[in-house]
Amino acid sequence: MPAATSPHVLPLHVLLEQRFGFRAFRANQEAVCRAAVEGADVLLVMPTGAGKSLCYQLPALARGGTALVISPLIALMDDQAAKLEALGLNVARIHSGLSRESAREACRGYLDGTLDFLFIAPERLRVPGFPEMLAKRKPGLIAIDEAHCISQWGHDFRPDYRMLGQHLQNLRPSPVIALTATATTQVQHDIVAQLGLGHGGREPAVFIHGFRRDNLAIEVVEVPKPKRPAFASELLADPAARPAIVYAPTRKDAEMLAGELGRSFRAAAYHAGLEPDHRERVQRAFLAGELEIVVATIAFGMGIDKANVRTVLHIALPSTLEGYYQEIGRAGRDGLPSRTILMHSFADRKQHDFFFERDYPPVERLDAIYKVLGEDPIHREKLPDLLKRAKMRLEQEELDKALEKLLIHGGAVLDYEGFVTLGHGNWRKPYLVQSTHRGSQLDRVIRFTESGDCRMTQLVRHFGDTEDGLAGCGICDVCAPGSSLTQTARPLDASELRLAHQVVGALAGGGYGGGSKSTGKLHSELCAKNGMTRDSFEDLLNALAAAGFLRIEETSFEKDGRTIPYRKASLTHEGGTFSDRDAETVMLRELNGSASAAAAPAGKRTRKPAAGNSRGSAREDAPLSGAAAALEERLRAWRKAEAQKLGQPAFCIFPDKTLRAIAEEQPRSEDDLLAIAGLGPAKITKFGEGILGICAAVR
Ligand code: ADP
Ligand code: MG
Repeated sequence: MPAATSPHVLPLHVLLEQRFGFRAFRANQEAVCRAAVEGADVLLVMPTGAGKSLCYQLPALARGGTALVISPLIALMDDQAAKLEALGLNVARIHSGLSRESAREACRGYLDGTLDFLFIAPERLRVPGFPEMLAKRKPGLIAIDEAHCISQWGHDFRPDYRMLGQHLQNLRPSPVIALTATATTQVQHDIVAQLGLGHGGREPAVFIHGFRRDNLAIEVVEVPKPKRPAFASELLADPAARPAIVYAPTRKDAEMLAGELGRSFRAAAYHAGLEPDHRERVQRAFLAGELEIVVATIAFGMGIDKANVRTVLHIALPSTLEGYYQEIGRAGRDGLPSRTILMHSFADRKQHDFFFERDYPPVERLDAIYKVLGEDPIHREKLPDLLKRAKMRLEQEELDKALEKLLIHGGAVLDYEGFVTLGHGNWRKPYLVQSTHRGSQLDRVIRFTESGDCRMTQLVRHFGDTEDGLAGCGICDVCAPGSSLTQTARPLDASELRLAHQVVGALAGGGYGGGSKSTGKLHSELCAKNGMTRDSFEDLLNALAAAGFLRIEETSFEKDGRTIPYRKASLTHEGGTFSDRDAETVMLRELNGSASAAAAPAGKRTRKPAAGNSRGSAREDAPLSGAAAALEERLRAWRKAEAQKLGQPAFCIFPDKTLRAIAEEQPRSEDDLLAIAGLGPAKITKFGEGILGICAAVR
């Protein structure tokens, strides 16, 4: 092996032990260090906790001089700096949380060459004179931590990272090492291209390793929203399930759930809306083991180094697979068996759509801002007035979002003091490309939840870890349904077995290649008499597919200019000879514990409305309770009035089915409204307030 003869092997090992106190390299660290010591540019993609920092810190010491480290978060910077200082190294930081005097001192130290490491935030490069100062004395090595922030395809895109490529040129020939835990192949290419990795005629060395985590058992489970807090509490009741991190979608959810869990456990919320020192206390208490559960928004976790987290629980659908992987990666860093559980339902998808519409405003809104800008700088606080004069009214939040997007895509330029000037005119297309991309990321998460493939293998594949053998993990809910904590697998009963044969019969034949049918059609053909709900029927089909007898394809058709998704089933080769004996391998999944109470036949699951199923549809003929009936009447009257105002028929506002579902659910918030089939963000924006007002009035 060339490694044994390399001149760096001995010194690197010695450095590792003497400076860092580690006895051995972890998997892949040595090869990365060697490439960096030799001066190659490096792209290093390894999961959180794998030990990426060492891969720039050790080469930095081996090469000598000052290493320049660019890091997007103050907390990360402080954490790394403190660790290096504890090792007796000379470290300085420059970020907005520190005084001017300390920044000046850091610069002096840098120019004098007395520093081992200088940490800076990327926005510092916008300060006039600062990049020039750096260029006066070339760093021994440049490390760019969390490098995915440079890519608009990454989940933490930071406009300030964009400028790095341009500034790096002035710091050459210093080698650059870009580190990230979360890069899809697309993001990887973007990092290499934008940072201009590769220099002196050499390609960058790319290392992508270690995405498979053998000790994480991943579970994905559909649970109706209202049942999730109680179910979470049950799952965490086993002391072996703690310490735990619970991820909640919003600050409000985090607070509420922390309060609820706080009744039985030592739990606290953590989110960006809390005071920094409060957050700090929560984080410290969790690290010290005084808190056993943190209920957090995604703000929590970057740089958190707690080895014994036993459970990571998501109480809602995450918006990207990259973010999700990063979050579950915080479980079991000590290598001991750990579990991750993702709860979701169709209501989550609607909520994401809602956020999507908020975060990716219509291009016209960006255009309105673009049009009022000019060469003369305008302070961003003056923008609302200018827009008003141009007859464009935007809420502050809408304005901020639209401006943020315009800045990202270069249609506007913001300076250090908050002044905005006109940017270039080519921002529209990249903006549209990006918003489409965000939409497809969400689709990717949904496919992950619906797929019948090993969960870990899907994730590894997603990150382009091509050296991985892609074998099933053997412990996720797909590979090992029997060990799931959230669901029980049971064999089919007699009536389900009969139905399974009918499904096979309905799909058999159909000429060449066998027939395929939409699952909705199958349901209406086969279940009209037996009364099985659509959801239970879909469960049966999924079980047949998981056992290899059916193939289920997510597909769609176009109708009136809209894309309508549906599921299509066909027989596999094995399905063609399905027998009672085969049926013994088919396992149906049922929710465990309190969540199973929600699994009563009618409302068990919410699925795509396009699949012909909507909440309450199974109960359509049942009489409503007194209060609900009264509410239904008032809603009907209100709908009629709205329809008259708009000169439209009443069902265009929404159909009777939706009216009835609202009366039954008695929603209290927009979030509740989103969970009702037939109500999407557009309707809620128009009518949400009116509906909630009526519901509040009858309470
Ligand atoms: P990453 O940046 O990849 O998320 P870190 O660099 O923060 O991970 O490292 C995670 C933890 O692993 C740190 O506590 C670090 O000290 C430790 N670590 C890194 N390399 C080694 C090693 N070779 N031996 C033992 N511990 C290590
Ligand atoms: Mg790191």
